[in-house]
Amino acid sequence: MREYVWLECTVCHARNYRTPKETRGADRLELKKFCRKERKHTPHKETRKK
Ligand SMILES: [Zn+2]
Repeated sequence: MREYVWLECTVCHARNYRTPKETRGADRLELKKFCRKERKHTPHKETRKK
């Protein structure tokens, strides 16, 4: 199974990326990503969208 999750900027909460993710037993993603709104790299966390 695979689901799509959003990667949300932990600073300004903009949802900048959408990524497919394996659902089974995976930890929550936390990645350094480029935030377009702030024009810098910030930690992004996955957020589920149904
Ligand atoms: Zn941001």
